[in-house]
Amino acid sequence: MTTRDDTPPMLMPFVDLRAQFAEIRAEVMAAIAAVMERQQFIIGPEVERFEQEVAAYVSVGAAIGCASGSDALLLALMALGIGPGDEVITTPFTFFATAAAIARIGAKAVFADIEPRTYNLDPDAIAAAITDSTRAIVAVHLFGLPADMAPILALAGPRSIAVVEDAAQAIGARCGGRRTGALGAAGCFSFYPSKNLGGAGDGGLVTAADAALAERLRMLREHGTRSAYRHELLGLNSRLDEIQAAILRVKLKHLDRWTTQRRLCAERYRTLFADCGLESLVGLPAEPPGREHVYNQFVVRCPRRDELRDFLTAAGIPTQIYYPSPLHLQPAFAGLGYRDGQFPQAERACREVLALPLFPELSEQQQHAVVDAIARFYTGKPPRNAGS
Ligand SMILES: *Cc1c(COP(=O)(O)O)cnc(C)c1O
Repeated sequence: MTTRDDTPPMLMPFVDLRAQFAEIRAEVMAAIAAVMERQQFIIGPEVERFEQEVAAYVSVGAAIGCASGSDALLLALMALGIGPGDEVITTPFTFFATAAAIARIGAKAVFADIEPRTYNLDPDAIAAAITDSTRAIVAVHLFGLPADMAPILALAGPRSIAVVEDAAQAIGARCGGRRTGALGAAGCFSFYPSKNLGGAGDGGLVTAADAALAERLRMLREHGTRSAYRHELLGLNSRLDEIQAAILRVKLKHLDRWTTQRRLCAERYRTLFADCGLESLVGLPAEPPGREHVYNQFVVRCPRRDELRDFLTAAGIPTQIYYPSPLHLQPAFAGLGYRDGQFPQAERACREVLALPLFPELSEQQQHAVVDAIARFYTGKPPRNAGS
């Protein structure tokens, strides 16, 4: 097979991890070197300190590091004692891991539709999906915007339904003044490199307000042990490495500054879209009062999305589609028996959303180029030639 490279050079990357590393290179390299000198790689001082620092950052009782955001979800549901016969409500418009964790522990994933403006779970749809078997709700803070937690917690509390936050995309975001991870019974975070706090590989963490729940989480991540070789619970091996924790401790100190830069980029996009009269055509991310967005992604809703995406690619502007298909229509969930048309808002979002480049180091000039290219598409002008 021959490949013909006729796509123009990109004017910017979709995310730029190298720019971030350049800024903190010395700190990161020193942190890695310290771990290498110590030669303690699993559950050592770096993980312990990182857990304390995240718990303080989130303002929550405890934080427990683990191997990935996917495992964080699995561990949280396991620690809450959820399993076969239980129903767990979640959104069909999220990354696969959210619902996979529910199915993995033998519980039944029950989907509820999203609010079209925020892409997060619609509390009315959750209310309609609750049954006598509902044991938990996994609320995803999608793209960095907290879910509408007050009505979700009000639905769950009186029915003894646990609320688990999937905060993989939303570290640092606030809802009603409180940080994500401090709102539900447990909060699940991912340190996948492209998340707002990204490691140099996989990593995750669960927060818990309740000390007994935290203790179960600590045991579950190490095959159910409190002390070596006495296994009280059936857990798994899911730990955060010392090297990852050391790197994440360096990066946590910069997180709020990076978040401020992300929010500034989002504001600039808003201004640029307004300046060229596109705000009524292109649906910009919502930020309802009391909910602070941390923009892991800047996702717009746009007519003729696929054509626009091709046009932008030709103009040297990278974009992504999060997510092209809703979870209730994924082959792996065929056994749940859902059909096309059951969650119209999630299905429509899958056809209309487009994530634009947004990272702390993105320049105003680059953002200008993005919006200019989108304006050209909708006014029928040819793209500017990226190469020249
Ligand atoms: C990234 C992500 C996860 C999974 O995290 P990993 O660390 O990649 O396992 C779960 N849920 C959401 C919403 C995510 O964005």
